[in-house]
Amino acid sequence: TVAVVLFTSDLRLHDHPPLHAALKAADEVVPLFVLDPGIHAAGFDAPNRSAFLADCLNDLDASLRRRGGRLLIRHGPVVRKVREVAAECGATEVHMAAGVTGYAHRREERLREELRGGGAVLRVHEAVITAVAPGAVTPSGSDHFAVFTPYFRRWSQEPLREPLSAPRTVRVPDGMRGEPLPDRAKAAGASPGLPTGGESAGRDRFSRWTRSGLSSYEDRHDDLAGDATSRLSPYLHFGALSPVELVHRARKHGGPGAEAFVRQLCWRDFHHQVLAARPGASAEDYRTRHDRWRNEDDAAEDIAAWRDGRTGYPVVDAAMRQLRHEGWMHNRARLLVASFLTKTLYVDWRIGARHFLDLLVDGDIVNNQLNWQWVAGTGTDTRPHRVLNPLVQARRFDPDGSYVRRWVPELAGVEGRKVHEPWRLPADRRDALDYPEPVVDLADGLARFKHARGHD
Ligand code: FAD
Repeated sequence: TVAVVLFTSDLRLHDHPPLHAALKAADEVVPLFVLDPGIHAAGFDAPNRSAFLADCLNDLDASLRRRGGRLLIRHGPVVRKVREVAAECGATEVHMAAGVTGYAHRREERLREELRGGGAVLRVHEAVITAVAPGAVTPSGSDHFAVFTPYFRRWSQEPLREPLSAPRTVRVPDGMRGEPLPDRAKAAGASPGLPTGGESAGRDRFSRWTRSGLSSYEDRHDDLAGDATSRLSPYLHFGALSPVELVHRARKHGGPGAEAFVRQLCWRDFHHQVLAARPGASAEDYRTRHDRWRNEDDAAEDIAAWRDGRTGYPVVDAAMRQLRHEGWMHNRARLLVASFLTKTLYVDWRIGARHFLDLLVDGDIVNNQLNWQWVAGTGTDTRPHRVLNPLVQARRFDPDGSYVRRWVPELAGVEGRKVHEPWRLPADRRDALDYPEPVVDLADGLARFKHARGHD
């Protein structure tokens, strides 16, 4: 017997329940990934993510080949392609992991129907994108938690399955015709500092970071220049790493650093369960605050300055340039640039979220849109009117200015924390810098926000 395993957001061999089940149920399996043009049409295949995806698929294929198999690639609408492959190899079963988005649920329904016509059964396994599936824990009287701390408490008590090991051998039927694997080099427009994708690179990074960074994570995770976080987010986004396995390994390691790391992994699950229950929150305010965001045309110059990293606030500009160069940004930096756009410049969070999705290698609808809403005060934050002052943030999280000097070369010669306030330098030094004046006075920005939210 033959079974097809459809890979989606789970591009790994370790801890892969659908692959594990298919290998048990059938003599041979066809590991399949479909490059669906619908993803392109929906605008979700930004160059950085396409490049990283190419790495993930090449790595998956290489890992399968070491086990006697290979990855089959097909281009086209996913439902049709799965049906075609199932018919070609005479599969009786198609295995896949449950999705958590509306798109994924519709895909499952259509697949189930299509396959039934061809005589194959769709077997949908538990969701593997999160550690605890959305909806698995709920508060009394609601279908999701809107506040993180009680969610975290319940989430921490949920029993997690033991992670599955990678299969030793994968037998693929002869004669299946695949299409070429995507080539990272062809992802035009990818950021120069993009990391290498794939399960092997992700596992390697996690092992190294467990030895070097996990113990000090609690103390150092907000240090912008120290860059001490795991940088595992893109691997988690593509499912090249299993969140269940990461939680297990971190708990086994133990200590305050590991506990803080597990708490961050819970934030992913928290946002997933919010969006699963409120799919509209990917585009609409989770909690409407009647914000009269500035008209996009009126704010066009400020928006462009923010995107290009030339707002005149060095820490904001450093972060925006890091995003463009690496396709990634430190969490503390994401918080402060998002607060700056929505609260200091009073620009709609959707404009910022779109720019992030265009560039972030870990960019995903769930974590991006809901974190943006959290910062904008339209989401689940219990303190929706908080404003992060970029100067206070810079002094606290980049105390000696190294992060700014790394990303804003115009200011590389400004010593110490003076780099955060170039407008205070003596006029002749100030004039010699090729660096813009602040686009807004912080007090004016705050007054505008307070006035606007006063109508809330
Ligand atoms: P670590 O600090 O090492 O944390 C470990 C893991 O925990 C991360 O890899 C991530 O998967 C998860 N995590 C940590 N913080 C959060 C959080 N606040 N929400 C959800 N998961 C979290 N994360 C994304 O994965 N994709 C996005 O598109 C995204 N957009 C964001 C937009 C804004 C405005 C903000 C404020 C945050 C966003 N985040 C997003 C969350 C967070 O910034 C990144 O996950 C984190 O910076 C990734 O770096 P890391 O892997 O080194 O994190």
